[in-house]
Amino acid sequence: ATVDEVVKDEERILVSVRLRPLNDKEILRNDASDWECINDTTIIYKNVNLSVSERSMYPSAYTFDRVFRTNCSTRQVYEEAAKDVALSVLNGFNSSVFAYGQTSSGKTYTMTGITEYAIADIYEYIQKHSERDFMLKFSAMEIYNESVRDLLSADSTLLRLLDDPERGTIVEKLTEETLRDWNHVIQLLSICEAQRQIGETALNETSSRSHQIIRLTIESSAREYLGRDNSSSLSATVNFVDLAGSERASQSLSAGTRLKEGCHINRSLLTLGTVIRKLSKGRNGHIPFRDSKLTRILQPSLGGNGRTAIICTMSPARSHVEQSRNTLLFASCAK
Ligand code: ADP
Ligand code: MG
Repeated sequence: ATVDEVVKDEERILVSVRLRPLNDKEILRNDASDWECINDTTIIYKNVNLSVSERSMYPSAYTFDRVFRTNCSTRQVYEEAAKDVALSVLNGFNSSVFAYGQTSSGKTYTMTGITEYAIADIYEYIQKHSERDFMLKFSAMEIYNESVRDLLSADSTLLRLLDDPERGTIVEKLTEETLRDWNHVIQLLSICEAQRQIGETALNETSSRSHQIIRLTIESSAREYLGRDNSSSLSATVNFVDLAGSERASQSLSAGTRLKEGCHINRSLLTLGTVIRKLSKGRNGHIPFRDSKLTRILQPSLGGNGRTAIICTMSPARSHVEQSRNTLLFASCAK
């Protein structure tokens, strides 16, 4: 699809799975690569040594909108699983692209590329559409233990969420940079990355527990009045969300989880699962957006006419089969 052929009436949530190659650590310990994408939409578990009871307990084949083999590039993942949703922001739709999966499954690797490709395509579109005036605003935040931090500010003050009767939930005092050019984009993305690393060092751990949201708001208006359809001004937001490691959600499901480990269970991730499951069944009824910071912040792009793409990343390693099954279960529920 060209940049101009942005998504028109895609209502449901686009769900895909990306299988990464075995990494050096997995290869060194002779881990088996147990998953295989047998076509563009189906992934199978091919361990022949499964016990009968295991065989009956888990499906061996899972089907999604798209599955990506280990040798697929991030460019291809972007083109086929994220682009239409991300670029629908140019038609005035709020949208979100998520990476979901256990720690080290490839979320950041995937989302970093997708974010850059999408912003580059948005620039290309804007340059071709001189009949409209565009303004792009960039912001970035991190949610850690239900606290929100600005990734464009060196100041680590926690940000409050406010309810605005017209605009919905607002992140108070979040930095919003008006984009000047492509260099400015690259500069801001590297600031976010540095800020995220500083935060991790301060907390003495990796980013596996935090969610990162990079948000682009696009405002546009027609240069001159061209009849009633073209006169309107549009404003919409696209969010690129690199989620906390999904093991943070599944821990709560495993038996014997101690209560004092409650802080390890990620409320935002669990609520996101519930919200997405309910949304995939239709947009009616009560959807618990307000139960977590992540879903409150993303409500405008998840509910209403928002467009959503979820890319679930997974390791092919036998040692990770439990987490991979959880990831595929999440992905199946989102469909
Ligand atoms: P996560 O963000 O889910 O914790 P990362 O994106 O940091 O995981 O990926 C973990 C490691 O695996 C990184 O070194 C990354 O470069 C590598 N990696 C992830 N996905 C792929 C892939 N599809 N192809 C090659 N290397 C990958
Ligand atoms: Mg990561």
